[in-house]
Amino acid sequence: MIACLGRIVHDTDAESIPDDDVSTISQSLDLQGTIESGGIAGLAGKDFGGIYSVNPLVLIKPSGSEDIARVVKAASRTSHVTVAARGNGHSINGQAMADGGLVIDMRSTEDNHFKLLTIDGSPYIDISGGALWEDVLKRCVSMFRLAPQSWTDYLSLTVGGTLSNAGVSGQAFRYGPQTSNVTELEIVTGKGEITVCSETQNSELFFGALGGLGQFGIITRARVKLQPAPDMVRWIRLVYSEFEEFTRDAEFLVTREEGESFDYVEGFVLSNCHDPINGWPSVPLDPDHEFNPAHIPQTAGSVLYCLEAALHYRHNDHPSTVDAAVNGLLERLEFIRRLKFQVNVSYIEFLLRVKRVEEHAKANGIWDSPHPWLNIFVSQSSIVDFDRTVFRKMLKDGVGGPMLIYPLLRSKWDDRTSVVLPKGEIFYIVALLRFVPQGSSVEKLVAQNLEIVKRCNDEGLDFKLYLPNYHSKDDWKRHFGNEWSRFMERKFSFDPMAILAPGQRIFNRTH
Ligand code: FAD
Repeated sequence: MIACLGRIVHDTDAESIPDDDVSTISQSLDLQGTIESGGIAGLAGKDFGGIYSVNPLVLIKPSGSEDIARVVKAASRTSHVTVAARGNGHSINGQAMADGGLVIDMRSTEDNHFKLLTIDGSPYIDISGGALWEDVLKRCVSMFRLAPQSWTDYLSLTVGGTLSNAGVSGQAFRYGPQTSNVTELEIVTGKGEITVCSETQNSELFFGALGGLGQFGIITRARVKLQPAPDMVRWIRLVYSEFEEFTRDAEFLVTREEGESFDYVEGFVLSNCHDPINGWPSVPLDPDHEFNPAHIPQTAGSVLYCLEAALHYRHNDHPSTVDAAVNGLLERLEFIRRLKFQVNVSYIEFLLRVKRVEEHAKANGIWDSPHPWLNIFVSQSSIVDFDRTVFRKMLKDGVGGPMLIYPLLRSKWDDRTSVVLPKGEIFYIVALLRFVPQGSSVEKLVAQNLEIVKRCNDEGLDFKLYLPNYHSKDDWKRHFGNEWSRFMERKFSFDPMAILAPGQRIFNRTH
């Protein structure tokens, strides 16, 4: 079988693998799952970014860890075959791709492992690395009235995909990123070994895989901490004209004790104009709300800032109790008083809020257009300079989509994971979520992203890319800084032939 796989990879043109070759691989791998031919037009050859496309050899739909281990072992006996786990393909720069390699569709394992556990009196859920967070949410709430604590904004992402990066949203200031909410993983390493790991068992693999960009193994199961699911959410948006006031209030909220702040804190930058996507209309939460620009102070500049917060509550909480809790916090903030917007929504509706954006964008045909997104962690010490240079000058007209900015706390992240962060306790995530209108040049927007990164470097700002994308080893070394040697050691231990996640372009396949 291995010889057969090797021969196919060596001798055939990957663009036109005849079906019988695929069935030969299929038979010889002896999988419980199925194999489909790759091809540039298929699922495995593209991602949400829409910038890169490659030609994978085959798409494998495994039934579980045993299948995945077989595939990785088979690849390891060839001289150059690589393996990419594909979560939901929501990467931007081809990270889940394998040119000429084997792509594993993790979604085919999404129902595996689902099990509620109680450990030391606390609830946890075992879930598949291929499960979508939105399904985890729906199942946990409907079956147990429990839910994970830390989310991403958008939930059609897989557990393994976000844990390989960090997984960040407005709850991360309190609970840390999703990588801080996992206590055990099952992983198929680059040697094809199925290994259970945690803080105390195979801990190098555990911490390596969290934020590890898929470099050390394929996450097949995760154990995630749960909390009682709230019923409802008060969802609030507050507008600011001054960056210093916006950041002071955001930092005030994220540094308060649990019970003395909101349960979710985010923010975004908007253009000070009527542009429907990036301007004033992007703020109201309800079609009946009106954003009256007459309330914007004369002193406001080219951009405004919106603080977004949410408070959880239960059906049986009296509305006056919720009002009192919200107003007690709002009165300490310095937003433009007449530019406050709030709605009450169910907890599930709140967590699935970006799904509605997706539906809308799909209807308008822009969901499937390219997305040259840029995500950056910027330290508190550099964020004022970043605002001045990037938001107020380069991006004052917007990016055709949200420009998120909100603070996070380093102490909620575990520095044993593979994620690298800027210095200091408070840092900001900046997410430029570009949507490219038809007929616009993607290259121009990619060039603008590069220019932003260059300006940050030129001005000596303290930052790290989130969902990093580099093409040269020197850039990766710079990205990891002091952690580069640890990253390399982990690679050597768990995927010494660099079989896994070739789309990250960090290591070259060896044999
Ligand atoms: P993929 O894109 O399929 O894979 C990502 C990487 O992980 C690849 O290298 C892949 O090989 C590897 N991988 C996939 N599955 C596994 C596995 N089981 N084990 C090991 N490696 C694996 N991120 C946030 O933090 N917060 C957000 O709010 C947020 N919102 C987003 C909204 C949208 C609309 C989109 C498109 C992305 C968003 N992201 C957000 C980014 C997202 O977390 C990453 O792009 C993530 O990698 C996507 O998950 P995926 O399941 O599609 O992974």
